[in-house]
Amino acid sequence: MTFRAGQPDMSSLASTLRRLHLNRVIWLMIACIVVGASLADAVTINGHRYVSLPDVATRFGMDHSWLVRGKEAQVGSQWSDLRFTLHKRDITYNGDKIYLGAPVALHNGVLHITEVDYEQTLKPLFFPQQFDPKPKLYHIVLDPGHGGKDGGAQNPSLKLQEKYLAMDLANRVKSRLERYGYKVSLTRTTDKYISLSERPAIANRLNADLFVSLHFNAINNSKVDGIETFVMTPPGHASTNSTSADSRSYAGNKDAPWSLMAGYYIQSAMVEKTRADDRGLKRARFAVLKSLECPGVLVEGGFVSHPTEGRNIGSSAYRDKLADAIVTGILNYQKAINRARGIDS
Ligand SMILES: [Zn+2]
Repeated sequence: MTFRAGQPDMSSLASTLRRLHLNRVIWLMIACIVVGASLADAVTINGHRYVSLPDVATRFGMDHSWLVRGKEAQVGSQWSDLRFTLHKRDITYNGDKIYLGAPVALHNGVLHITEVDYEQTLKPLFFPQQFDPKPKLYHIVLDPGHGGKDGGAQNPSLKLQEKYLAMDLANRVKSRLERYGYKVSLTRTTDKYISLSERPAIANRLNADLFVSLHFNAINNSKVDGIETFVMTPPGHASTNSTSADSRSYAGNKDAPWSLMAGYYIQSAMVEKTRADDRGLKRARFAVLKSLECPGVLVEGGFVSHPTEGRNIGSSAYRDKLADAIVTGILNYQKAINRARGIDS
């Protein structure tokens, strides 16, 4: 497939430097100096520190333009297309939906995003080399949701139970990852109940490099469908499905840039492969993510309650597709780590 996201993603600055045949090291050093400096013109709006999109564009060596003056703005380059809408928390990056922690604001006639979103959402995607320590990726822990007395989401008419579907998907992902040489462990291999707190504890005991919790959704509305992926909410921000903030920092916040990257690549690959509705990369302080000591994401692979998506999820061909996509996402995350380390992959 074409690698559309997170491509050397940089901008006119990068292309100019490439034309000048400066080597990669010098180019990275310049990028670090440009992006590493703090944003001087941060302003406080609704209790958060905000930075302007034109300033963000300059830092990234991209262009800022209005799609609808005062309402919708684009920050883009040859490879990247970021779109922001006033008062909205969801933005798009090359068409993929990503939720910021706080809504886009208007100040002095230009759109602003919070400094935290700049640092923890955008910067990981464009300048992963800015974050230390850089993780390795070898031992991956997959966490099939629910089990035993906890059946999870149900669709009785299609005879679907989340605990079995998550287990099946985990096995499909495991065998594929092993073919690529990764070590893979599961938090459960049978239909048994495991508490939410025990799941990240297993990953921590195993010294995992990445934790992927696998789930399917259900809702009492047969029109709702689509795929979503969650990563930990940054301290001080509200989770996507909430408006109340929590200023505490948890273990699961420590690897925020890498979780963001893993979540982004997995969500993007799933949506591309299945053509399911993109519900976005979201934030939540889920118990399975809170106490993790490695990068981690929680995948919701679709709604068993939706008549069409439910039937899809019930078919092994579709679960193969989902497994392929999750693995593609993990491989793209690996490439991002390699790029951050300056290794061409
Ligand atoms: Zn679940």
